Amino acid sequence: MTELTPVPLAVLATRLFRELAQKKAAFDLPVARFFQGAATDLSIALHGQRASTPFGPAAGPHTQLAQNIVLSWLAGGRVIELKTVQIKDDLVIPRPCIDMQTIGFNVEWSQELTLAQSLEEYVKASMLIDMLKAAGWATSYGDTVFDMSVGYDLAGIRSARVRAFMAGLMDATAIVARLRDQIPASLAHLRDTPFATRISDTVTLSTFHGCPPQEIEAIAAFLLQEVGLHVVVKLNPTLLGRAQVTEILHERLGYRDLNVPAAAFDKDATWEQVTGFVGRLGALAQSLGRNFGVKFSNTLLVDNHKSFFPSSEKQMYLSGPPLHVLAMLLVGRFRQIFGDRFPVSFSGGIDAGNFADAVALGLQPVSVCSDLLKSGAYSGYARGARYLVNLVKRMKAVGAADIDQFVIKAYGHAQAALDGLALPAERMSACRAALAQGGDLRAAAGDAFATWVSAARLLNTESYVERMLVDPRYAAAHNATPPKKMGTRLTLFDCLTCDKCIPVCPNDANFVLTIPKGQLEMERLVPNGAGWRSEKAGVIALDKPWQIGVFADACNECGNCDVFCPEDGAPYLSKPLFFGSVAAWADTPERDGFAFEWLGKTLRMHGRLNGRTASVERDDHSLRYRGEGFDLHLDPADPAGTAKGRSDGPVDLTPLRIMELLRIAVTAPDAVNFISAAMAEHATNQAEKAEAKPWLS
Ligand code: SF4
Ligand code: SF4
Repeated sequence: MTELTPVPLAVLATRLFRELAQKKAAFDLPVARFFQGAATDLSIALHGQRASTPFGPAAGPHTQLAQNIVLSWLAGGRVIELKTVQIKDDLVIPRPCIDMQTIGFNVEWSQELTLAQSLEEYVKASMLIDMLKAAGWATSYGDTVFDMSVGYDLAGIRSARVRAFMAGLMDATAIVARLRDQIPASLAHLRDTPFATRISDTVTLSTFHGCPPQEIEAIAAFLLQEVGLHVVVKLNPTLLGRAQVTEILHERLGYRDLNVPAAAFDKDATWEQVTGFVGRLGALAQSLGRNFGVKFSNTLLVDNHKSFFPSSEKQMYLSGPPLHVLAMLLVGRFRQIFGDRFPVSFSGGIDAGNFADAVALGLQPVSVCSDLLKSGAYSGYARGARYLVNLVKRMKAVGAADIDQFVIKAYGHAQAALDGLALPAERMSACRAALAQGGDLRAAAGDAFATWVSAARLLNTESYVERMLVDPRYAAAHNATPPKKMGTRLTLFDCLTCDKCIPVCPNDANFVLTIPKGQLEMERLVPNGAGWRSEKAGVIALDKPWQIGVFADACNECGNCDVFCPEDGAPYLSKPLFFGSVAAWADTPERDGFAFEWLGKTLRMHGRLNGRTASVERDDHSLRYRGEGFDLHLDPADPAGTAKGRSDGPVDLTPLRIMELLRIAVTAPDAVNFISAAMAEHATNQAEKAEAKPWLS
């Protein structure tokens, strides 16, 4: 199984800026799909900071690796909820772990990187964003908030290692100084960038189903008091209670095949318990001058009734449309109790069709995971900008100059919200006049503006929840069709070349390999006296204008590209797989694949095809082809006439031909992928330092 291996900052930066210059794209997201900012003010206030949009990726597959975070940001995410970390950072996650065939399930319940790796990935992402700004690529992108996420119990969160992780994000001076030295020579002008060092001072607390309410409260109090963070507690959909969850899922939405284990309700916190600790934690935060809020919602634990995940997984986590309904009901119920006293952030089945609605309820931020994994007219991260474009349209339609004024106007409750405020007559008429004439509501309301916004949030919540409950888009019947399969099977080369596998990969592991159409002649070298004769062994036809490659270090075999690929066989399992290091390649003997290393000026390519290993060494003058039972020097233009060396019998040249084809494609000067970036970084490093240490080693 391939494992996530962070890409060094030097390689990430080399690739990012090469790709922007050569392809007008970043990590395969075209510049045209970036969210370049809007004339309308979309900013929100969050824990004493400003975020330039209310959108962000939810803690999950889009916020684990540095390149994912940069992609989320380029797509418009300005509140980055970093992937949740915990003390157990060496767990083996079952694969595949993401099932987006219909509504969305996962068993990706923990981080895959170590705490130290996670910390460095988040700092690297922040630095890459600062570099993009400093280089003039993203000057209008505004402010971004990084929100850390920790789990899952008090002992783990209090541990020295998790505390060091949090401290590292609160003051990353030392890490930034170390990484600054890794900025490649080609980007030396960016080494003096004034990088942020306080990466985050907010946290969203994620707890497992079954975490006792006393423990949730103790963790949040610890984070507020002892760590000094603003805290948001993510709550579980089981809070609605067994009867309502079952009625909504089975009767109203028609998801009769979903079953929530009884234990999930028995062990999770009840409303009474939650209202108790929310009130106490709010008071504690206030006394400390910090912020406290809640998030709806965590995913929902359900029995695994499908065969997508390994059979070892008896339960899985539900996301997508049904979770949206449950999470919004929770928002409604929470606000019935607390009004607008506490900030509420939201995640659950958000897409381009309901993002603006969630913003209109004053939910901040509105974060997304499942929808960013999907394919369509806009695929993967590119869907992010659509949320914001739609939001701007909705704001313009009601004449809202900013998010708070949008909240007041979005649902036609501006007057009703105002009527409930008991303002002095003069202020009331100023507000009414501003409403009637499309004036500035903030200026008209003065000190009363915040209460007006709060009143509108509550009325909007009631209206939206009512409307949502009868909206067929959340029902099983509308979400029952998996992506279409054509009945054909993937092979190493050629496929439908639809490219769907590229944007749906949250880690940008899949990429285009430019290989000219043609036929690859296969042959065997057969010992013939003192020399060799060539024996034809068929051809491999390459009929498509390009091929697909997979970067193993960024592939955790989550399975998402398999779901959206129209062919069977899974791109990540069928297409040429390139490892970032020989060590990783050697550690994954069950997978065919390739890796490179430099031996002075000689480039050695290791390959495994059909389980058999071979290597090809090339310098300016010669080619050495080695494998099980042979070791030859030859000119590939005339192997039979030039081969010298030893062999135990006939030598199959198929691996040599395939490896040469792939080497040329993946390292071509105009190729943009992690391997070519590593090659380029190696070359510039060699030029700058006599003792350069290549990544590919
Ligand atoms: S290549 Fe496919 S399986 Fe691998 S991480 Fe990307 S989407 Fe998941
Ligand atoms: S591997 Fe599948 S998804 Fe990727 S380009 Fe080929 S057919 Fe399309």
